[in-house]
Amino acid sequence: MDTSNNQTVLVLNCGSSSLKFAIINPESGQQYLSGLAEALTLPEAQISWRFGDDGEKQKAALAAGADHTAALTFLEEQVLHGRHDLLDSLIAVGHRVVNGGEFYSEPVLVDDEVEKVIEKCIPLAPLHNPAHLLGIRAARRLFAALPHVLVFDTAFHQTMAPAAFRYALPDELYHQHGVRRYGMHGTSHYYVALKAAEQLGQPLEETNVITAHLGNGASVCAVKNGKSIDTSMGMTPLEGLMMGTRCGNVDPSIVFFMVDELGYTLEQVKDVLNKKSGLLGISGKTSDFRGITQGVEEGDEKAILAFDMFCYRLAKFIASYYVSLGRVDALVFTGGIGENSMMMRSRVLELLAPFGYIEDTKGNEAARFGNGGLITQAGSAKAFVIPTNEELVIAQGAARFA
Ligand code: ADP
Repeated sequence: MDTSNNQTVLVLNCGSSSLKFAIINPESGQQYLSGLAEALTLPEAQISWRFGDDGEKQKAALAAGADHTAALTFLEEQVLHGRHDLLDSLIAVGHRVVNGGEFYSEPVLVDDEVEKVIEKCIPLAPLHNPAHLLGIRAARRLFAALPHVLVFDTAFHQTMAPAAFRYALPDELYHQHGVRRYGMHGTSHYYVALKAAEQLGQPLEETNVITAHLGNGASVCAVKNGKSIDTSMGMTPLEGLMMGTRCGNVDPSIVFFMVDELGYTLEQVKDVLNKKSGLLGISGKTSDFRGITQGVEEGDEKAILAFDMFCYRLAKFIASYYVSLGRVDALVFTGGIGENSMMMRSRVLELLAPFGYIEDTKGNEAARFGNGGLITQAGSAKAFVIPTNEELVIAQGAARFA
């Protein structure tokens, strides 16, 4: 792989015990390195990586209890050892940040003030933002010569109007405490909306699409004239669709019932709603959509119910965005489930038949394995599968500051 005269961005996505990394050319989208450090701060901390798209996957144990700094040090000193071409090609570091509140609607260059704002946003993303800060601080120390840029999951949704982002709660909860809907997966919704506009042959600024990002976390977005005007996730990623282990929309009184009548602690309720619900809760077996569709094929009743609920709730959300958008140019499926599950797409299109969707079975079949493509017949309302690329959007956001 010739990397001379190359300009690349190191993209980092830090979770509480994980650190995903990639080195990407922001113009061509070429990925030179991708990898993941897992079980950070635990005895079994480890790191795996691969050069290029088809390089051999390599793995190493990190020192027991290794943290984000240790993982990044390993990346710089071991993984990139002897790869001065790649190290020298770096022009910026792009950090994914889940929630930037109302402070950021664009990527921002990190300085100490910005770090303080991310700290201020911790109550809005208590699981994610502290982990992002660990990664940002470690990376700023290790890659001190490079500009560090934050790219927010929430930024794309900052164009939502109050009628879409407010909860019907007392005013002070919003004005004094920031309780509102922020939405997530913004980089993915933006990317596939842009690609859909390209496929439709029209400018993004004149394109209306409904984008469904369906992975372990899942959200739908109504994009009007290229801008997000509504989305299914809320103040946190718990609202909206049924997900791998998250419940999505439920009656909030269920929380009182669990606490008052069943004696759950709030910590237990949080655990149930975030980690034991969704596909896992209903199937009783798995949060993995492949396991669900396999269960459907084998006639497992719980898996069938989980599949039915996932598709029905998704189709209802999509239908509601016809109210938000008026005219819909296309529906887009993306994310691990959206890109790969022909069975799910087929069911959702069937449920959306009243809106003019007619599945093209061959197109739907052909969209597997990362190909994407149009999955509806000529004369039907249009639906596409478009593989997402959040890392590329982050790399491009960061490259602007190089
Ligand atoms: P994350 O939100 O963690 O980034 P992904 O976008 O990678 O998640 O999506 C993970 C989901 O995609 C899992 O539920 C997985 O089962 C599902 N998935 C991956 N491949 C397939 C497939 N071939 N058929 C159905 N579902 C799939």
